[in-house]
Amino acid sequence: MEVVSTVAALRARVAGWRGDGAAVGLAPTMGGLHEGHASLVRAAKEAGQRAVATIFVNPAQFGPGEDLSACPQAPDADAAVLEAAGADLLFLPDPAEIYPPGFATRVAVERFADILCALNRPGHFDGVALVMTKLLNMAQADTCYMGEKDWQQLQVVRQAARDLNLGTRIVGCPTLREADGLALSTRNACLTPAEREVAPRLHAELAATAERIADGAPTELACAEAQENLVFAGFARVEYLECRHAETLRLAPSPGKGARVFAAAVLGRARLIDNVPVPG
Ligand code: AMP
Repeated sequence: MEVVSTVAALRARVAGWRGDGAAVGLAPTMGGLHEGHASLVRAAKEAGQRAVATIFVNPAQFGPGEDLSACPQAPDADAAVLEAAGADLLFLPDPAEIYPPGFATRVAVERFADILCALNRPGHFDGVALVMTKLLNMAQADTCYMGEKDWQQLQVVRQAARDLNLGTRIVGCPTLREADGLALSTRNACLTPAEREVAPRLHAELAATAERIADGAPTELACAEAQENLVFAGFARVEYLECRHAETLRLAPSPGKGARVFAAAVLGRARLIDNVPVPG
């Protein structure tokens, strides 16, 4: 796996591949890599594409109270995960390569900006949309693979890619989980052993709520009871636990096909998010 740190080198490599008739897949990450990230690279390889991974901790998507330095950086371990997954190229830029002095442009996706994770993280998705617009422009990939775990982020990037004619197809990839259902996340490393025991309840409650809703239970009641169960199980706070339409992300009081149940909850030092489809 080749490692490059400049936009010029990234563009030259991708242009060479595309000139040879190869398709290119992109897997953007912020490091702290695990099998969930590796699955994005594998998706590109399974599609017969050259796989480009990026690692960049994007300052624009962190709010004033959020600690950027809390993102664990282990470049060697990350490179090993990517290499094992079959990545052809790693783009590992310095912050100044992405945001040079004098940088002054913003991207705001107005849809989805006042719901779910956006409520507790004002400006977060504008930062995501900005860096993703830049990365998609820089990489000129055919396809960009993103995890369904961050479902709202996936919808925001889809919207920006469509609205701004970014020319890359955005593909959602299934959430990889531990055997007990906990979604793989860099943040799981923040959990104490006792909290780690409690953490799978998030997915369990989401799955049970989705089943109850599919069986006809009133949506708001099912969601409220699941919130209570999580607090009783030891979560400090549930930011939201809601049933919404998968694409519009509007509240789904009487869900038809394509509804999902979404949650964010705080456990110890970790803020965990997850979502599951309503069956049927
Ligand atoms: P991050 O580095 O956490 O910003 O995540 C980079 C990409 O990996 C995003 O598209 C995430 O949705 C995706 N991702 C993170 N965790 C998982 C997981 N457990 N399964 C699948 N994809 C994931």
